[in-house]
Amino acid sequence: MMEVFFVGVGEACDPKHGNTSIHVHASNDVSLLCDCGFSVPHSYFAFFEDPDQLDMVWISHFHGDHFFGMPLLLLRFWEMKRSKPLRIVGQRGVADKVVAAMDLAYPNFRARLCYDVRFEEVESGAAREFSGLSLQFMQTDHSQKNLGLLVDDGKKKLYYSGDGRPTDEVAGLIKNCNLAVHEAFRLDEEIHNHGSITGCLELANDAGIKKLALVHLERNFRQQQAADIDVLLKAHPQLMLPVSGDRISL
Ligand SMILES: [Zn+2]
Ligand SMILES: [Zn+2]
Repeated sequence: MMEVFFVGVGEACDPKHGNTSIHVHASNDVSLLCDCGFSVPHSYFAFFEDPDQLDMVWISHFHGDHFFGMPLLLLRFWEMKRSKPLRIVGQRGVADKVVAAMDLAYPNFRARLCYDVRFEEVESGAAREFSGLSLQFMQTDHSQKNLGLLVDDGKKKLYYSGDGRPTDEVAGLIKNCNLAVHEAFRLDEEIHNHGSITGCLELANDAGIKKLALVHLERNFRQQQAADIDVLLKAHPQLMLPVSGDRISL
């Protein structure tokens, strides 16, 4: 069984739903955290008490709401005496970015970490094995380069979009996946370089996606058009709008 836990579901400035981040516990007992923005460590540690339970962090791109939580995550793991190595995977530059953020937040602290941090840089179209999981990466259409992540544990397939609209290549990669956790900033595609609810529904339909969880909704839109969003949720049983603390078992 693959378990997906929603640590946060909001956009960068959302005070209520936190920055979007999901925790995935795969059927072979490997755990990964997808994105770690400003607000994520506080929520993460409120839910997960074991410093060694996490194996890998995936960073979709370098906007702050997706990786500026890394210094605090690494610091808190040290405070909790983590002993297991931590793998950090992302596009080219991920090691430099995380190291720079850490050195700015807590100068001279990296040398004191009591566990190994291992970086791995990947490109769009690539595939990797990680502790029995198959990982694939595909670029989306966003204002900054962003990679969507497909996780396959041999039993279930999950897609995590990060930010941006899906491309044809993304639709091809995620065919028939069990769950897509996708960014949808607004209802329709009026905002460039972001996903939308209607775009996500089209993608789910075209790619035969079984469940679609919408995250990263623009905060005012989410509040002001809650009734319209509710109508869509009722009309599409495979569609869900999770909140922080929600869990889906696949
Ligand atoms: Zn972004
Ligand atoms: Zn974002």
